[in-house]
Formats: sequence, C-alpha cells, structure tokens
Amino acid sequence: MTQPAAHALLDLQALTHNLRRIRTAAPQSKIMGVIKANAYGHGAVDIAHALAEADAFAVARVDEGVNLREAGIGQRIAVLQGFINAEELALHSRHGLEPIVHHPKQVEILESASLDQPVKAWLKLDSGMHRLGLSVDEFADCHQRLSRCPAIRQPLCMITHLANADDVEDSVTEQQLGLFGGQVSAMSGERSIANSAGLLAWENALAEWVRPGLALYGVSPFPNRTAEQDGLKPVMTLRTRLIAIKPLNVGDAVGYGGDWVCQRPTLMGVAAIGYGDGYPRHAHSGTPVLVRDHRVNLIGRVSMDMITLDLTDCPSAAIGDEVTLWGEGLPVEEIARHADTIPYVLLCNVTPRVKRIIR
Ligand SMILES: *Cc1c(COP(=O)(O)O)cnc(C)c1O
Repeated sequence: MTQPAAHALLDLQALTHNLRRIRTAAPQSKIMGVIKANAYGHGAVDIAHALAEADAFAVARVDEGVNLREAGIGQRIAVLQGFINAEELALHSRHGLEPIVHHPKQVEILESASLDQPVKAWLKLDSGMHRLGLSVDEFADCHQRLSRCPAIRQPLCMITHLANADDVEDSVTEQQLGLFGGQVSAMSGERSIANSAGLLAWENALAEWVRPGLALYGVSPFPNRTAEQDGLKPVMTLRTRLIAIKPLNVGDAVGYGGDWVCQRPTLMGVAAIGYGDGYPRHAHSGTPVLVRDHRVNLIGRVSMDMITLDLTDCPSAAIGDEVTLWGEGLPVEEIARHADTIPYVLLCNVTPRVKRIIR
C-alpha cells in the first residue's frame, strides 16, 4: 500500500537530539518530559518509549498516566492536575502515579485516605500564575499537614509554574522565582519550576527537575525565535500529496465563499489535507506550503479534507507529489503565525485520522 494521504512523520532521532539539547541547558537537573495531550499530538506511548533517557514524565490527567503504565512505561509519572476525589487518588496509588497537590481540598482527601501504597506527591505553590496552586498562606500549612500524612511517601516534592518565561524581559519571572525560593528554602525534597522557556532562558529556574514539553518536540517556546536558533529539531513533519492540478483563469474564485479570486492565469493544486486532519481552518491565503521542495502559497479557504494551492510558480508540480504542511523545511512556528495561533495548538490538533508514522 502507498502511504496514507495525510500522515505525520515522526523523527525519533530529532526527539532524542532535543532531549540531549535540554540536558546541556540544564546539566544538573533531571528531566521530566511533558507528554500530556497525547504528547502534544505526537502519540504519548511512542514518544514515552522513545524517551527512554528521560528521568520522568508528566501528564495532565490521571487517565493519561494510567495509559502509560498499561503500555509498560516504568519511569516516574507526575499528574499535573492530580485528583479530585478518593477514587482518583486510589488510581494514583495503584499505578504509582505522582499527583500534583494544588488545592486544600486535595489535602483533606489525602488525610482521610486509606491507601495500600502511599503516593509520592508534589505540592504546588501558586507563585504568580494564578491558575493552579496553593497560596503562600496555604502552602506552609498544607506542607506541614502532608509531612505527617501516612498517605504520602516522604519527603514531599515542591513545584511551581512560570506564567511568562517566554518573555525574557518580563520581571514577573524573577518575582515568581523569589517567592517560590523563599517558601521552599527550609524544606527538604525535590523542586521543579521550569517549562521549556524557563529552562532555556532562566538559569535560576533550573532546580532538581525541569519540565520541558514543547522543546522536546523541536519547537521554540519563544515568540520571536526559531527552533534552529535554540538548537532544536522538529519531530513532527505533517505531509500529504497533491491530488489534482488544474489551470484557472483570471477572475475565477477558488473554494467556499470564493474568497480567493485569481488575479493572473493560475495553476491551482489541491492537496489532501484540511481541518478534519487538524490543519488550521484559519490559515490565511499566503500561508506557505512545500510542494516537494518548493514553497508555494495556500489560496482560498481551508476545507475539511482539502486545501488549495497556487502552483503557478511551480509548473513542474505533478499529481502525487509530496506536500509538507509543517516540520522539516517548514517550521510550525511560521505556520502558527499565518494562522493566528501558537505551535502548541497546531501540534495538539492533529486528528486521529492522520496516521503517525515513525521514520
Ligand atoms: C504543559 C506544562 C509544562 C510544559 O510546558 P512547555 O511550554 O510545553 O515546555 C510544564 N509544566 C506544566 C505545569 C505544564 O502544564
């Protein structure tokens, strides 16, 4: 069989390259690879197996952690949202998952739990992001209570999350680091602060554990930088093929709504990918697409299964040619800008009908 029309090629050598790149940026830290949301759309189980050198993993939800255990992943696994009731706590215990404890309600659940196996847990301080995490007032009290809680395998680990680490000029990060440092200085136990941007830009944020997500997948976490500048290589290349080519005349309108009107005699190509595959519906006309190695422009609206391209300046294009939407040769960062979004969204949104193929 030929390759399926729309597919995501995964370059696992790029993945291990990125892991090593992260190690050089944080040589004293252990790496907790963030593989929530199906490893940012790449496939959590395959990515976890390929990241055998990662020291631990993090997922958002307990079922994501259970799936990894059932697939035979043996490293430590932190669950960023932890549990909301005793059943979910029991799942953590049964599968050796490490909840992030971010709310006093969870402390109560732990205090009234009777677990077969105590859990290793991370206590989360809200140091300024104001999403999940304990306030400064709650943190010391919860830490003290959990330090004598039989449901916890001591010592507790400590965690916080940076809100603006991708802006290297923003003083909020120093404030967050100061607040977290002040709270945990007298406590024993491992600490973790930095996401991808934090570990690449803020040396003071490294601590015992770093938590890269996006950088592992070979994408720069900074708005004005490229992966290449950060020493990263893209893991996912989203590909399809040309399924039709036809000449259009001046004045012909292309696609739904006829938004794009040919201003010149146009060689129009149709590629088999659309928003049903996760290609962004809002990619503007002019978004770059690679046909073999030529950059051409998207024209007209993105449909569910197809996009239309201007091949006029690429007259050698032929039906069956390989089309690259992002990845090798075409940074996903650039496509995100053309679609008014961020690379995280593009990667996460690749739908199940796009076959992931390991190179
Ligand atoms: C998603 C997430 C990360 C990873 O962030 P990246 O920007 O992808 O590196 C780290 N920590 C927490 C708490 C997260 O939610």
